Amino acid sequence: MSSSLISSGPAFADLGLAAPLLRAVQEAGYSTPTPIQAQAIPLVLAGGDLLAAAQTGTGKTAGFVLPILHRLMAKPLSPKPGRPRCLILVPTRELAAQVEESVRTYGKHFPLVSMVMFGGVNINPQYKALRGRVDILVATPGRLLDHVGQKTVDLSGIEILVLDEADRMLDMGFIRDIRKVIALIPKQRQTLLFSATFSDEIRILANTLLNNPGCVEVAHRNTPSELVEQSVHLVPQAHKKEFLSHLIRHHNWQQVLVFTRTKHGANKLAEKLLKDKIPAAAIHGNKSQAARTRALAQFKDGTLQVLVATDIAARGIDIDQLPQVVNFELPNVPEDYVHRIGRTGRAGITGAAVSLVDNEELGYLKDIERLIKRAIARVVVEGFVMPEAAAPHEGLDDRRPPRPAGGRGGPNRGGQHNNRSGAPRKPAATGHSAGQPGKPARSPGAGPAPSRHTTRPTSALLGSGAAKKGRE
Ligand code: AMP
Repeated sequence: MSSSLISSGPAFADLGLAAPLLRAVQEAGYSTPTPIQAQAIPLVLAGGDLLAAAQTGTGKTAGFVLPILHRLMAKPLSPKPGRPRCLILVPTRELAAQVEESVRTYGKHFPLVSMVMFGGVNINPQYKALRGRVDILVATPGRLLDHVGQKTVDLSGIEILVLDEADRMLDMGFIRDIRKVIALIPKQRQTLLFSATFSDEIRILANTLLNNPGCVEVAHRNTPSELVEQSVHLVPQAHKKEFLSHLIRHHNWQQVLVFTRTKHGANKLAEKLLKDKIPAAAIHGNKSQAARTRALAQFKDGTLQVLVATDIAARGIDIDQLPQVVNFELPNVPEDYVHRIGRTGRAGITGAAVSLVDNEELGYLKDIERLIKRAIARVVVEGFVMPEAAAPHEGLDDRRPPRPAGGRGGPNRGGQHNNRSGAPRKPAATGHSAGQPGKPARSPGAGPAPSRHTTRPTSALLGSGAAKKGRE
């Protein structure tokens, strides 16, 4: 983890954690606590409630799992089957699996038993696990309530409740489920609430749930990591698939997480990339859990070059050093942009977030820039050539400016980077500009006036409106 994420404060050994936990931390390869860990661990160890503003990637999971393990071990173990002492509620299956994995990693020298519980998978193994002892239960709200309904889990012994990524749980409509769960657990408990953003709804939830909480805030609210290099390409929607395929091949990106707004869009894009011989898969709520787990594993081990995901499916994907995030469409909720690009620029490694923006999305772009209080550089990519034949079917004729005299090389030729908002110009070496500076945008080997595949200036391909915007 980079020095920017590591506090100059205490060492792990100073935080008051039991020796088996320090050993596990050392074995995980962590030398210094992150700021959230340095602040949250002593507060949780002291038994107080906690309200934490922390995004994924800050080390927040260890920030609550380590002191929870310590506190659970400080009391005699309760051998009652199916009656956990700690409940960690999370929004997605992926996050549930990751948090439970962290519980195992940090708790490996303790005799505590953890269990992960989410929907979309066979419930029978969960019944079986609940017939034994479970100390720490990591669950998504829906499946937990299924078990509550069937009386296969008993929540009356909960001593510690964690709401992880609470903002996302509210976005996903879990508020009623959360309230139902809370009504079932003892009022006398310790409650920890983690959220990346703080809407009024989160504040209300925090006020009703937490008792005189300690507050910890590590990253500026709604501020993306400084380690993420952000850029925008103005591209008509109908050309985005072709454009993305070009970007991936041109830059030889090896591990790209691409966000689409819809499940259908995710499928279509993955199909197009596969057609272009780029190993890709889509993950979203309509895919089986097995398919999602497989795709994620292949993406992690490098077999799969591109993972296309909807916001909800991508939530909680924890891949260290993810170098490249692409917004195939901008999210219409600006905070989601911050969540999305938080998948890269983690753990001290720089990353890049590229957004493909159609004219129709310029309003969303403005909202995002207002939220992050920063202009995002508009970058023109040279060398992207759209097959002429494809254009009429894509309904783009009305967007194109007249072809410049001479047939090639419009106003944007020569590796010029446009920047509407006064953000610093990006040098070609940033990896966003294909083609060589000073050379017109041409497809390799494009001859004079071919009949089907025509070399076209980038400005023309971006559409008149988009290209103009880019130069303002
Ligand atoms: P999280 O924010 O909990 O998702 O953690 C982000 C990543 O940071 C995970 O891959 C952790 O393994 C890693 N991590 C957590 N704490 C530390 C630490 N103190 N030093 C180095 N890496 C850490």
